[in-house]
Amino acid sequence: MGIIKGDLFVISAPSGAGKSTLCKGLMEALPGIRFSVSYTTREPRPGEVNGVHYNFVTQPEFERMVSKGEFLEWARVHDNYYGTSKKAIDEMLAGGADCLLDIDTQGAAQIRKQFPGAVLIFIMPPSMGVLKQRLEGRGSDTPEVIKRRLENAAGEIKRYKEFDYVIINGSLEEALGRLKAVVLARKSLAAKIDPDWIEKDFLNRG
Ligand code: ADP
Ligand code: 5GP
Repeated sequence: MGIIKGDLFVISAPSGAGKSTLCKGLMEALPGIRFSVSYTTREPRPGEVNGVHYNFVTQPEFERMVSKGEFLEWARVHDNYYGTSKKAIDEMLAGGADCLLDIDTQGAAQIRKQFPGAVLIFIMPPSMGVLKQRLEGRGSDTPEVIKRRLENAAGEIKRYKEFDYVIINGSLEEALGRLKAVVLARKSLAAKIDPDWIEKDFLNRG
């Protein structure tokens, strides 16, 4: 009651900074937020479920979707292709839901162009050393893949100024608290209140 339209929350980070962990924590804490399940040509990691973490597709299928204009944005990241479904986002926003997008910095810039009101959040590791430890500790990528992701990290980190918020993920608890605070602050903007609700319920005393 009284709250209008959903928001797009875009979260980017160098691989291994803890973005997936934070997104999962955010959705557990604020269950109203819907996750945008991206399409990708990368192989599933152990435990990843098709349709939940990603929609896993072949390269020809991905290319077909690109040519049909089915992506709101797409990018090549670490030698694989990733894209956000236009239809899924349109449906979520039309239903008034808040959407969470876990996408790379190229994708975040594309979303900002199309939705200037999107909230862009960048997650940083506390240091390069910690980033390497987390990628190795996750145990899901080969040394070659980890090397490639670390090489790409600097290029992503240098774009931090394109984001509205930067959250350093040292302590998970503190970072999650900050992420929740950003989302809740956005949902509390005065501009989010439906003026008709104020008018009817509080001002129209007759
Ligand atoms: P991303 O989605 O950014 O690639 P993940 O969420 O998969 O990163 O996190 C990478 C690894 O680091 C995982 O093993 C995760 O459990 C761990 N991790 C995430 N956040 C923290 C944190 N604040 N402290 C310690 N380990 C963390
Ligand atoms: P991972 O392979 O570790 O799941 O993701 C690699 C990178 O691709 C991460 O930076 C992630 O945010 C990004 N990514 C995931 N889905 C999308 C998407 O739909 N579009 C774009 N541009 N990047 C994505």
